[in-house]
Amino acid sequence: MTNAPVVTRFAPSPTGHLHVGNIRTALHNWMWAQRMGGRFLLRIDDTDAERSDESYVTAIRADLAWLGLNPDGEARQSERFALYEQRFAELVAAGRVYPAYESQQELELKRKIQLGRGLPPIYDRAALALSDADRAALEAAGTRPHWRFRLDHDAPIVWTDLIRGPQRFDPVTMSDPVVRRADGSWLYLLPSVIDDIDMGISHVVRGEDHVSNTAAQVQMFSALGATPPAFAHAALLTGSEGKLSKRLGSLGAAQFRDAGIEPQAIVALLARLGTSDAVEPLADRAPLIERFDFARFGRAPARFDEGELAQLNARIVHQLPFAAVRDRLPANMDAAAWDAIRPNLETVAGAAEWWQVIAGPIDAPADPDDRPFLAAAAAMAATIDWGADPWHALTAALKETSGRKGRALFHPLRRALTGRDSGPDMAALLPLIGRDQAIARLSA
Ligand code: GLU
Repeated sequence: MTNAPVVTRFAPSPTGHLHVGNIRTALHNWMWAQRMGGRFLLRIDDTDAERSDESYVTAIRADLAWLGLNPDGEARQSERFALYEQRFAELVAAGRVYPAYESQQELELKRKIQLGRGLPPIYDRAALALSDADRAALEAAGTRPHWRFRLDHDAPIVWTDLIRGPQRFDPVTMSDPVVRRADGSWLYLLPSVIDDIDMGISHVVRGEDHVSNTAAQVQMFSALGATPPAFAHAALLTGSEGKLSKRLGSLGAAQFRDAGIEPQAIVALLARLGTSDAVEPLADRAPLIERFDFARFGRAPARFDEGELAQLNARIVHQLPFAAVRDRLPANMDAAAWDAIRPNLETVAGAAEWWQVIAGPIDAPADPDDRPFLAAAAAMAATIDWGADPWHALTAALKETSGRKGRALFHPLRRALTGRDSGPDMAALLPLIGRDQAIARLSA
């Protein structure tokens, strides 16, 4: 362990909305920075002007804010081209980046031939064999080069991944990666490394779909004179069926918000999914941060189950204090009403329905057989003490006078008073419905 400060980054390309897998990566980066007292940066990977869209940048920031994953700084790759140019020139001068002139078709043909011979389709480095005169001729003919990073074949590429353990790649089995296109535009690999160095990133935390990129990038760090950061590659998420699902790719903060999912539920689930720790309905982040550790992550794909999220969400809603939700509750709904209703909710939005039950009007057609009993209840409701616990006072008195008990006693009252067969505790609800309204409902 070095004493370098912990700096993590979440580096989305603004080519779409964040999906649940991206959110999980952002969370892991945020968690680790929190846990280590470090910094969490947002880096917008917008080198591809064609595919990047400003509306996605705005949406990414808004999603992170909604989730409470606030970056300690933000950078945009599109503002950093001068730095990439400078470091690229160093690599060219050192012979670690070289121009290559093959067209897509030529490369495709080479691949086909290799595959046809049963060989792995690795770039043959033909461009490295070109003489100055060859290159000059190609350029005179109008061919502009793309640029490849020359992998060092002399030693295996190794790192100890914080999640996957020891990793080993043989560079001989890898193609020299293209880092820059013929039109001068950048591919993701090299600018990312240049930024990670420049920003002092201590931990690169991302999905395991990047493991082979990491192998190439480890050499890029060294070629640029830097020690590679620590890497943590989390196993990917699968759908509840256990397969990589299309659905996950379209599930983002907007869908969660629309479904009434609280950010705390997403955080509680995604901080633990794929780890050896049980998922718990923790509305508070502190205990999640405290236990967050890459060492607890497993290698198997983690199953993301929307049903599990909905259940966790309900258990988190049950803990939310009035102050945290008042902006989203019906006007006039007070803390007492929230406390009474909360244990019955799956989402905060569901409170509106119960507030309607409390404030009225409600529609509660009574069973004709229950009418005399309800009339007696209305009369009784006018005489009991409403100060303390009217529900127990009312039901105790009615039990005496009517001889009813259990469901026969409680159910007609609940139906008449709320219009529902089930719901929040009547002892909490009745004082909120109030004396006059309760009498009116019982005598309706
Ligand atoms: N822009 C890259 C992506 O979205 C970043 C990967 C990384 O974290 O380095 O996949």
